[in-house]
Amino acid sequence: MQSETGDTSGHPARQDVADGDGARPNAHQHHGPSTRAVHAGAPVPEAGAPVVSPIHQTATFFTDPVPSGEVLYTRYGTNPNHVALAEKLRILEGAEAAVVLASGNAACALSLLSCAGAGDHVVAQSELYGGTLRILNRELPRLGMDVTFLPGGVGWADAVRGETRALLMEVPVNPTLRVPDMSDAARVARDTGIPLIVDATFASPINFRPLEHGADLVFHSATKYLGGHSDLTAGVVCGSGRRIAEVTELLKSFGPVLDPHAVWLLERGVKTLAVRMARHNENGLAVARWLEQHAAVEKVFYPGLESHPDHERARALFSGFGGVVALMVRGGDDAALEVTQRLRLMCVAPSLGGVETLVSMPRYTSHASLSREARHAIGIGDGFIRLALGIEDSADLIADLDQALAPVLTADVRR
Ligand SMILES: *Cc1c(COP(=O)(O)O)cnc(C)c1O
Repeated sequence: MQSETGDTSGHPARQDVADGDGARPNAHQHHGPSTRAVHAGAPVPEAGAPVVSPIHQTATFFTDPVPSGEVLYTRYGTNPNHVALAEKLRILEGAEAAVVLASGNAACALSLLSCAGAGDHVVAQSELYGGTLRILNRELPRLGMDVTFLPGGVGWADAVRGETRALLMEVPVNPTLRVPDMSDAARVARDTGIPLIVDATFASPINFRPLEHGADLVFHSATKYLGGHSDLTAGVVCGSGRRIAEVTELLKSFGPVLDPHAVWLLERGVKTLAVRMARHNENGLAVARWLEQHAAVEKVFYPGLESHPDHERARALFSGFGGVVALMVRGGDDAALEVTQRLRLMCVAPSLGGVETLVSMPRYTSHASLSREARHAIGIGDGFIRLALGIEDSADLIADLDQALAPVLTADVRR
């Protein structure tokens, strides 16, 4: 939600920004990300006020018979829990406004629908999260929109037409951790006024803030790093007050609202985002470096490694490389399947960004709908495993991988 004063709740969230006219100072301007994650949007520290936001587990709020101000209703995103969390996320992302939604896919869909409608055209990078591809391939055409895909996220200027209303990127890309060049799309967005939408779920605002690099809207699956505990599904969209007001109109219409209890859990999760990300980043680099020297591993995908094709770009854009590391095991998909079955500490499950390490083989999960050729074309070769590292001790994670990978070597010798 755009910052609006909401002291009808009795415990207003701290609103630390100028709302448009620049009158109020941004109290967090000089604060680091950890401080922002803890304090932005927290209750105003007055005697008797709660330190932690109370849960406003209510669908509606009393008004005067003729409402004099803003009507509070949970589906409108005006529940004080929504307002407080949106404030925290807005400040973390460095945006004018933010709106909290029920899932990352809702955030993606409403971002696109806030820019484009029937008869319009959308340009998107080809390598995208499966749920995003579902929206682009299945829903937008049904609503009368045309989509052009750009392999590798290159060629934006040539793809734009008179009726183009949105550009869409994902940075970094799941599961190969490629980092497409944002500068080209950002230039086209600036020159044409067509909004650039970026899904930065794999980075979190601690590692990467796309609005600083020319994006107009940024969205996250808050189910992942922002929530951080694999216990809720949520999304957030950040951008200018005007653009977020449009997304909020769609929230009111279509209704993908996050329940106040889940909002409260998410707010609690975001308070520790910076410290969790520091550990995810640390584990990512440690595990990637260890895997890179392992004889059973054909290739490692991690933007923090010098061997990654986009390492220089990643260094320029990110302040950390995240907790997702992918690898290709020697011996192909059968060997990879056996490795995942031998893991004792790491668990096999889709998703990422939680405190526990989760492992998946994209060929059976996010990219199951693609043919082998199509998977190879986007870099998902045989033996591909994705590790979504949690915040455990890297030595324990490495020991688990070590025992799971060791038999691959003996199998190799036998062959
Ligand atoms: C998970 C994910 C989504 C979708 O989020 P949900 O919360 O599952 O709806 C979108 N983009 C990326 C990159 C994701 O990883």
